[in-house]
Amino acid sequence: KFITFEGIDGAGKSTHIRFVADLIATRGVELVSSREPGGTPLGEKLRELVLHEKMHLETEALLVFASRREHIAQVIAPALERGAWVISDRFTDASFAYQGGGRGLDLAKIEALEQWVHPQLQPDLTFLFDVPLEVARARLDATRELDKFEREQSDFFSAARAQYLRRAEQYPHRFRIIDSSQTIPQIQVQLAEIMGKLA
Ligand code: C5P
Repeated sequence: KFITFEGIDGAGKSTHIRFVADLIATRGVELVSSREPGGTPLGEKLRELVLHEKMHLETEALLVFASRREHIAQVIAPALERGAWVISDRFTDASFAYQGGGRGLDLAKIEALEQWVHPQLQPDLTFLFDVPLEVARARLDATRELDKFEREQSDFFSAARAQYLRRAEQYPHRFRIIDSSQTIPQIQVQLAEIMGKLA
């Protein structure tokens, strides 16, 4: 199984990824836990560039997909082939949300890159942690990560969030939207229920 976790900054993904990883561990299957951009040594270098260098938005999209190409070749595909479960903190939906929705890159270009880099591979399950912008902002403020919001306008995050929700509408078979303004225990009940149904 290939499970991805998505949501704008401040949606609280990381806490929930750990919880889902623990649920998977109780199944006794091999679990590979990874993230994007990154997931490989080269991918992590590309992540640094994407996050900290100013660049043309198409360059950014190409670097994110270069990181993804490496991630699939070295980590995701081999793991799935040997029957391991893979969880990834972000995948291609994040390109649609951030480079597409957020930065305004033509979605057709992202689709073309997706077709090139992984024409077949799609997650079996995608958790979208969805939260109103004000809640996300307040959380980042509390954890002193507000610089992420200071770097980007809230228009950026609201467009990214809208694009995530559009993706979820488009691919309802694999998306599960989690209302991330709920408490952690409330969310964990939902995650356990969804994971319990996963054969
Ligand atoms: O999920 P995480 O907090 O590690 O993401 C770090 C940053 O990477 C996000 O704030 C987002 O701005 C950026 N990102 C991006 N394009 C992607 C994925 C992530 O710009 N496709």
